[in-house]
Amino acid sequence: MCREFISYLGVGVVSENAAVKVDVVIVGGGPSGSTVGTLLKKYRPDLEVVILEKEKFPREHVGESQLPAIGPILDEMGVWEKVEEANFPIKIGGTYRWGTSKELWAFEFLPLSKFKDEARPAQFKGQRVFTAFQVERARYDKILLDHAREMGVEVYEETMVRNVDAAGSEIKSITTQDGTRYEAKHFVDCSGYAGVLRKALGVKIDVPSKLKNMAVWDYWDNADWAIEVGVGGTRVEVLSISAGWIWFIPLGPTRTSIGYICPVEHYKKMSMKPEELYQHAIAQEPRVQELIKNAKQDGEVRTTHDWSYVSEKMVGDNWFLTGESAGFADPILAGGMTLAHSSAREVAYIILADFEESKEITWLKKRYEETQTRRIRQYIRFADYWYFANGQFTDLEDLTKEIAASEGLKMNSKEAFRWLSLGGFTDEDFFLPGLGGLDLVAVKEVARRLSKDTDSELEWELTKFNTFKLNLTGAKKETMPLYNGGEIHKIEAYRRGNKLLPAIGQFKIVMELIAKHSDITQFMQVAEAHLRNADKHINSSVTLQQCVATLEMMLVDGWVNGKYNPKRPRITVDFTGGKTDQGIRDIPDELRVHYHDGIPEAASETPSEAASEK
Ligand SMILES: Cc1cc2nc3c(=O)[nH]c(=O)nc-3n(C[C@H](O)[C@H](O)[C@H](O)COP(=O)(O)OP(=O)(O)OC[C@H]3O[C@@H](n4cnc5c(N)ncnc54)[C@H](O)[C@@H]3O)c2cc1C
Repeated sequence: MCREFISYLGVGVVSENAAVKVDVVIVGGGPSGSTVGTLLKKYRPDLEVVILEKEKFPREHVGESQLPAIGPILDEMGVWEKVEEANFPIKIGGTYRWGTSKELWAFEFLPLSKFKDEARPAQFKGQRVFTAFQVERARYDKILLDHAREMGVEVYEETMVRNVDAAGSEIKSITTQDGTRYEAKHFVDCSGYAGVLRKALGVKIDVPSKLKNMAVWDYWDNADWAIEVGVGGTRVEVLSISAGWIWFIPLGPTRTSIGYICPVEHYKKMSMKPEELYQHAIAQEPRVQELIKNAKQDGEVRTTHDWSYVSEKMVGDNWFLTGESAGFADPILAGGMTLAHSSAREVAYIILADFEESKEITWLKKRYEETQTRRIRQYIRFADYWYFANGQFTDLEDLTKEIAASEGLKMNSKEAFRWLSLGGFTDEDFFLPGLGGLDLVAVKEVARRLSKDTDSELEWELTKFNTFKLNLTGAKKETMPLYNGGEIHKIEAYRRGNKLLPAIGQFKIVMELIAKHSDITQFMQVAEAHLRNADKHINSSVTLQQCVATLEMMLVDGWVNGKYNPKRPRITVDFTGGKTDQGIRDIPDELRVHYHDGIPEAASETPSEAASEK
């Protein structure tokens, strides 16, 4: 199929019943559409792939602050360098005023003290693997869409899908506004909030959140962020005010996105126009006032409402939902684009497998739906919890118990709250313990900041014990898909309830090491040596941190049992505090592990059964 043919159809020379037949039709050319298209063409250049996009790019879009999990996907797409060349600010974390303290606090993917202000454009290696971008979506989405086109995807802008002809769970064809009808082996809904295929198919959505929020935002030229927020490594700023919060996202040397999110009820109560509400909110925030004192506002305040949801179905006979059409979680955690890119990547792999005549398609679709549903729900729950901690909800007890119950855990509210702050939100996401691209340490740090006891150390369950044993009792063995290098591999996993333990990566290392070295001192020594020998290129402190985080998650989730042997040392896990010139207190630096109880590290008594047991 070629472009001329489509135009030809567009002017109506071909009879209206004739359809253009291609392999894959993608509706929407945002981040998820470009990801599906690019990866399909990368691994199967012979496939005919079409993206139908309603707008002419560059077009504006909200949702600018990314997470590091996007980096490897951009790299796999072959577009990371192009995004880097656009010189978007590098994001190393977030600055918050939220929760019980009025002070600013930060969490970071890469500690500022470790971040080197290197020349750009750089390559996707070293420190940049741990960073993200803050992107002006008009430019970012265009770079990605143009890249998809260069990879051979037929991209049609200003081409709106108007009609979807579906029978049961199968899409027969779709028709654009100019009357062109497409038939394809697969259709992918990447139309974001519009959910074009989802709505046409009558797929219901679930709204598992108590939040009914809205957003108002605008763009500013020449805000002072370069001085206040940093030049080389920037942070998203999330600043809570009386009835909501303000985001401040540096998008480039002169452009900044500033938005306000509040409950819809508050908006109604204020009886103000959106522009007035926006100005009223910004006037309450002295830090933002200071940053914009020399800046000029675009003056076109944008709004959106209708909040978190999850689609009840994400796959059908010949269709998939990805990105925001599959679900949306409140932007407090800046996870939307991570969910969009990662879901789109997985769908591309499943479609590729189908073109390779894989017999596993039903299983792969089921796994995709389960994983994506779980990721979106986790984000929504964490966002609810986050808002609660800011006083937006009054029923903490119910909320924490509900969250624990949805994980199949019966806990009273106190236990549930503690479980959450230990990292109860985390899962085997991306084969690392975390939450949609945020690692366990970041989630714990955030949860601690949200808890009442902000002065306490980050709590680690594993510091109570020193002898650990793998516990697979009652777990069923199953397989999980691993998407890598254009192929899907099957890996072993254990399932207990709705918890999964994949036997890969850090999880596999911990499972193997803990089986041989139940004593924590020996475990740490062997883990460190193992990681050093396994890959000399990776940053050993970060990897050891992940290893400790993995053991912690396995302990909290019951995959490992802990005991305390009074004759053996335990470990203390902590972060060094630090001060920066930005007035932010207690920025976490690298993980440090101390051995305590006064027993030297070299002690090698055999661990014995001991008094306390988890
Ligand atoms: C207030 C707010 C703040 C946010 N902040 C963040 C953030 O800081 N970080 C983050 O990661 N995410 C954020 N998000 C979420 C983020 O915007 C989305 O997750 C992301 O854009 C989803 O990408 P997508 O490709 O699925 O959809 P989109 O980016 O919305 O792309 C969908 C495309 O489909 C096209 N389309 C729609 N209908 C049709 C049709 N009928 N025919 C053809 N094309 C069509 C649209 O024109 C659009 O280009 C935020 C969202 C909101 C609402």
